[in-house]
Amino acid sequence: MTEMSSVFDGLFNSFYQDNNENITSSNNTLSSENIPTNNISKSENIPIDTISKIETIVPINNIPESKDKNEFTFLETPNIPKEQNIFNINSFVSELRENDAKKNKEYSLKNTNMSAYDIASGCIGKIVMKILNHPVEDYGSSWLPVLMRGYIGNSIHDFIQSESNQFTETERSLKIPSIHFSGRFDAIIGNNNLIEIKSCTYADYKKIIKNHQPRLNDFYQLMTYKYILENYLEEAQRQPRETLRSDPPKQREYNIDTIQFIFVCHQIFAADYDTMGQAINDVKLIKQMLGSKHNQFYFITSLVIDLTKLEIDQYINPIKQKIERINHYVSLNKLPDKDDEFINNKDCFFCLYKRNCPYR
Ligand code: SF4
Repeated sequence: MTEMSSVFDGLFNSFYQDNNENITSSNNTLSSENIPTNNISKSENIPIDTISKIETIVPINNIPESKDKNEFTFLETPNIPKEQNIFNINSFVSELRENDAKKNKEYSLKNTNMSAYDIASGCIGKIVMKILNHPVEDYGSSWLPVLMRGYIGNSIHDFIQSESNQFTETERSLKIPSIHFSGRFDAIIGNNNLIEIKSCTYADYKKIIKNHQPRLNDFYQLMTYKYILENYLEEAQRQPRETLRSDPPKQREYNIDTIQFIFVCHQIFAADYDTMGQAINDVKLIKQMLGSKHNQFYFITSLVIDLTKLEIDQYINPIKQKIERINHYVSLNKLPDKDDEFINNKDCFFCLYKRNCPYR
């Protein structure tokens, strides 16, 4: 399982992603040039009277508006008496909203560390506010379907990790109190190939296959794990097991010269497509791009990057610099300066601090 922040994989824009076009690659290997450093019938066997008749199916081009922004319109079931016990989706959404705010609050109060995902894509204002336990006005998530996407992502991780013996270590905690860092990497093979499993939308999946490039924030996330493994291993291994969510890394030394992404395209929901037809066309296109319509696993692909072909410092330095900057502000118990280069006000949609953000 990845850390909580990975629930939001692929949803954020980041200052790194903004510069995605600048990555160039060939043969699945990133070249070192120009990578920015800063930045769902009828079933004949089921007797019809055992199922509720749906008398009105809303035509696709005449979807009614919800009267209330918190009340969604689903398929109508007019003949079902109100007192009958049926699962109510609006009530479910309310339950979800309530549980989400509660969990976010508990998580925020407990987790006052930066994660690798924060380093790779997060606004420094948000990260420092999290570490300093800055007050939050509303703990509710801005887009609730993200919760279901998170579950799908976690299930994909569990499936791959539990069905394979290829990994040497999986789910290793990297907790480094001295720099307020806490993260977990997905897997490693040997002591050199660091692996990240990423679920993504069809749109992102298509881009990855076409360009042979990872998403930029995913790349920097793995580079952050590399940096931590190679510079803070002893401190990670010293942490008491009861303070960790999983075992720390086991080996005496790591020399990460390869990173590998396992990209899994998850099912469509939420706002990825306007029509089912677009999605179906994309699936056909993906199969074509992979060169086989008979490939039953067209939704999984892997991308390997040979780090020995890159000028590593230009990627590691900004990571180091951002970690130092965060710790600088935290040591002064001060929010980042408004003109700090790591403030990213394009990253605000999911931010818990947006209601009282000093940077917008
Ligand atoms: S609302 Fe935007 S600018 Fe403000 S802290 Fe959050 S991400 Fe940064």
